[in-house]
Order: sequence, then C-alpha cells, then structure tokens
Amino acid sequence: MLLIGAMTILKDFNSLKLLPSILEQVEKKGYTTPTPIQAQSIPHLLKGRDLLGIAKTGSGKTAAFSIPILDRFGRKNVVLKPNQVRSLILTPTRELATQIEKNITTYGEGLELSSKVVFGGVGRQPQIKALEGGLDVLVATPGRLLDLINCGHVGFEQLEVFVLDEADMMLDMGFLKDVKSVISFLPIKNQTLLFSATMPPAIEKLSKELLINPIKVKVDLETSTVDTVIQKVYALEKKNKNELLETMLADSAYSSVLIFCKTKLGGDIIVQHIENMSVSCAAIHSNKSQRERDEALNSFREGEVRVLVATDVAARGIDIKNVSHVINYNLPEDPTNYIHRIGRTGRAGQSGVAISFCVPSEIARLGTIEKLIDQKIEIDADQPFHVDFSSITSASKKKKNAKGMKAKKAKGRRF
Ligand code: ADP
Ligand code: MG
Repeated sequence: MLLIGAMTILKDFNSLKLLPSILEQVEKKGYTTPTPIQAQSIPHLLKGRDLLGIAKTGSGKTAAFSIPILDRFGRKNVVLKPNQVRSLILTPTRELATQIEKNITTYGEGLELSSKVVFGGVGRQPQIKALEGGLDVLVATPGRLLDLINCGHVGFEQLEVFVLDEADMMLDMGFLKDVKSVISFLPIKNQTLLFSATMPPAIEKLSKELLINPIKVKVDLETSTVDTVIQKVYALEKKNKNELLETMLADSAYSSVLIFCKTKLGGDIIVQHIENMSVSCAAIHSNKSQRERDEALNSFREGEVRVLVATDVAARGIDIKNVSHVINYNLPEDPTNYIHRIGRTGRAGQSGVAISFCVPSEIARLGTIEKLIDQKIEIDADQPFHVDFSSITSASKKKKNAKGMKAKKAKGRRF
C-alpha cells in the first residue's frame, strides 16, 4: 500500500483536467481549493485506482468519490441493460444516501447520466421503476438494496465502480453482514473505494479482502477534533439541565443549535421542553418515520426551526451548514461519537461552538473523551448552574480512602 505524501497534494481543481461542466459545478458550489482528502485521492481515482480513505466526517469525501465517477462516466457513455448499474455507492443511513445523491445530481448536471437513491422505510415501487432502465449511479442503504437484489431488480454485470462509504458506521449499526452479502453479488473486477473514519479490525479485514493494491489516504486521524470548533464543558447537576438550556436558548447568538441526546425518549422530552419555551424545534431519531426525519432535517437546514434534537445514529455524517452550536445534553457513551457530534459545527472552515453538559456521574466519561482527543476541554464556570466538581471528587475520594481502598491519583483535573 502506498501512503500519499504531501508532494502529491493538489492546489486547485483546474489542474485535474476535469470535464468543464463538472468544474463549473464545483465553482458554483464555491469550492476553491480541494480538501485534503480530495487533493490526495481524486488524481488517483481518475486513473482507476482502488482507494482506502481514512477520514473523519466533514472532510469532503462525497466530492472526492463523486467527481471521479462522474468524470469517467461523462467521458464515456455506456448503454445500460435493464436493471444494471454502472456504479454503486453504499452508505449506512437514508439521510446520507439522499445527501450523496443530491451531490451527484449537482456535479453531474449537464452530463446526462442517470442516478437514483434507494433506501428502506419508503415504497419500493418507484425504486423498482427507476431501476428498470438501468442506472449510471445507484446510491443505496444495505437493507433495501439486498431486498431489491434478491428480487432481481438490480444487477451488477456492468458495474465499474463500487464505493463503500462510512464503513465503520456500517459496523456500528450492525450492517456489516448485509454489506458483505451485497459485496458477494459484485463482480471482482471493478474500481473499489472504501471510506471509514476509523479502522476497527473488522473493517481492516474487509478492506484487505475488497481492495486491490489500493492507494491509502489518511487525513486527520479520528482522534483529532475540528480546530475551528470552540469546545467547552458546562459542569452542572442533572436537575438543572433544562433550565440551563433555557438560559442558553434565550440568547439569540444560539441561532442554529443541534442538541445531542442519549435516547429517543429523552430527545422527545427535550423537544417538548423547548417547544414550551416557544422556540422552534424538531427531532430526528430512529423511531420517526422517514418523512418526519426528512421534514425535520429540511426545516432545520432551511432555518425554519432553530433547534434540532438528535440521537447519535440519526445524526452521524449528516451535512448541515451553519450550525452555530452543538450541545451535548449528555456526554456520548462512545467517546468517538464526541468527535462526530462536534464535527457537525465548524464545517468546512466555518467557526462553531460545542458545549457539553457534564454531570458528576460523567466525570470519568469526560476524562475518556479528553484522552481520545488528547486535549483538555475547558470547564466554563460562566453559567448560572455551575458546580465545582472538585468538592465532589474529593468527597468520594475520602470515602474510598475510609474504606481502605487505594484512591486513584486525581490527575490534575480542574474541577
Ligand atoms: P464527508 O462525506 O467527509 O462527511 P462531505 O462530503 O459531506 O464530507 O463535505 C462536508 C462539507 O464540506 C459539505 O458542506 C461540502 O459542501 C463541503 N465541501 C466539500 N468539499 C469542499 C471544498 N473543496 N471546499 C469547500 N467546501 C467543501
Ligand atoms: Mg459523507
């Protein structure tokens, strides 16, 4: 495997000699310089290489894989047989699938290529119909795709490119078996791209089985947080969370707020509380229907609602521009989700603020997050419900000592 060095980094899109219409769309989108993952992968993808891309969400992977596919297909049209697809992009959630297909449509404007997104939770018939004439680009989530394959509505005889997006998230969501089943239907010889934010062993193994002599591009380790995001912790008691939220939302600087919570039920309770304050609010979680999730996301994107409450699974990878604040109502159980969550703000170079509520029982969890990101997060005492955790930690330490237990050294935390 080859690790691309800084030497190959591309400075602008013009030097790629892309089809003029693609370049035009890139300019229209306002992209002037390629992001690191784009700079390091597009030149090699245009040459047909396989790729292992390790990059966190928000790094610009969508254009990195979409542009080379469209450039290749736009240069050479192929007559598609019924139900055959020329490229397949597999991604874990409906929202991501929709977002990718939107990007494909934008970059591919004027190229007369066909694309469609398929996912579960909505009717199959329009999807089956769209597949009948064959498609240049199919964007899909694994479950519905398998269903369509098994019923003979999708074939891969003419497949040229396969993209597996957010592979580690597929694993987290329990989709790996479905992904492997899909792969078993694909021809061996095609260009394959695998993107993942992290490389757990199962994904590493899959990448070895799937990719042939790939270019390996690693941008920003998963342990790095976006440096355009100001991170703070509000230390407080659980009972004061809603009141603090109220104080915060009374400030108009909180113009577009994404709140992460632990459970679907918890999310609904927060929404209710916020609505009682007459602040516009919507929620996305897996108990909501697809239509409700789409509506919530769109109204937040369009600025019709100020606050979006989300669970981790529903929100990961979703690209929402101009999120002014991310609020962690609870600290995430999986510390890598902290990075995903705060990455929803400060997107593509804009600045953002991420505030995490931390209650006494979460002190250890905060420590794990700080260890992962290799950075201390400032505890901001400038809020009405601030509690000084040092008294709590020293009280519990005394208790442990009294029991004759060996107290762990408090490693200079500033609670
Ligand atoms: P990922 O798939 O890695 O999570 P996306 O492809 O969704 O990231 O891109 C994240 C954001 O960055 C999007 O808002 C996208 O429009 C923007 N973006 C992508 N490429 C560029 C670029 N070259 N210049 C500026 N913004 C970009
Ligand atoms: Mg993405």
